[in-house]
Amino acid sequence: MRAVTVDPGREEIGLADIPEPALASATGVKLRTLEVGVCGTDREIAGFQYGSPPPGDERLVLGHEALAEVVEVGRDVERFAPGDLAVPMVRRPCEHLHCRPCRAGRQDFCQTGDYSERGIKLAHGFMTELFVDEERYLHQVPYGLRESAVLVEPLTIAEKALAQVWEIQRRLPWADPSAASDEPGRGLSAVVLGAGPVAQLGAMALRRRGFSTWVYSRSPAPNEKADVAGAIGATYVSSEQVSPGELAERVGNIDLVYEGSGASKLAFEVLGVLGTNGLLAFTGVPGHGPLAEVDTDALMRSMVLRNQVALGTVNAGFDSFEEAISDLEHFSQRWPDAVRALISARHSIEEHRKLLVGHPGGIKHVIAVAEGA
Ligand SMILES: [Zn+2]
Ligand SMILES: [Zn+2]
Repeated sequence: MRAVTVDPGREEIGLADIPEPALASATGVKLRTLEVGVCGTDREIAGFQYGSPPPGDERLVLGHEALAEVVEVGRDVERFAPGDLAVPMVRRPCEHLHCRPCRAGRQDFCQTGDYSERGIKLAHGFMTELFVDEERYLHQVPYGLRESAVLVEPLTIAEKALAQVWEIQRRLPWADPSAASDEPGRGLSAVVLGAGPVAQLGAMALRRRGFSTWVYSRSPAPNEKADVAGAIGATYVSSEQVSPGELAERVGNIDLVYEGSGASKLAFEVLGVLGTNGLLAFTGVPGHGPLAEVDTDALMRSMVLRNQVALGTVNAGFDSFEEAISDLEHFSQRWPDAVRALISARHSIEEHRKLLVGHPGGIKHVIAVAEGA
């Protein structure tokens, strides 16, 4: 069967013919890949910056943002039957007995760094026709999300960040107790940095919870990303036209910053205008750009005197996947056009190269692996 693979040793990417996987355990599930999203991580692996094949293999099958259909289940599988839609998790636990997060099923907080990640690190990904996974790493997706569930994995980044935001902000009376329980962010202001899929899905999650939401990204409006922000009731502001200081004047107290672009200089400038009791969550992974100057005295003074928190967060656990699926159902009903607009185009598996090494533009590009998908 066909697979998009990277050979880091030979610095080659391409379509390979690999053997079909077979069920190897009673709790295993065999799935047919329907769609795989392409993101910056795939592009960096295709640029040989990181990414490692499974032990004993020279090639790594790419792809970690998948939607698939169950074709076969092991005899002890309880939650899935053939025909069900499923989204797989990305990270698998390390094997160290002393790694408390991994032993508790929270490998997104793995302490040792010896985890594996499908399509990224030491485990094959999903840019292939069939794959096998353990039931505990799979999430059931309603059929109504067939067109959008490829966005579940990028949305889990925001879900994990938000879960931590609520946990941390229990340190003070933060949410308005009179706000409706499904809109605990009402009366609070959030700024989203970036306007790519992780940022826009984060903006949707914030809007759903009632935050006044600002999407702060480079390109001046009008553009397709500003249109998505507008459609979900967020305010789009270009960082080329409005400085962080001016942004803070418009927003008022910035209660939360959800960083989703990996642009570190801008993120630290915005940390400098974060509001009282505010929290900034970094999710982007910057490359190695030119050194930027930061006024460390001003930043530290502000963080201390205003009780601020800066938080880094990566990957996501089981609950964040379930939350993402539930949120995506809400988004798809409330903002169907905006959700559709996040997926710029679907491509055949043969077109992988232009998505991995070219400059396709747009927001999210998807490889439709299954024929007729
Ligand atoms: Zn990704
Ligand atoms: Zn671990």
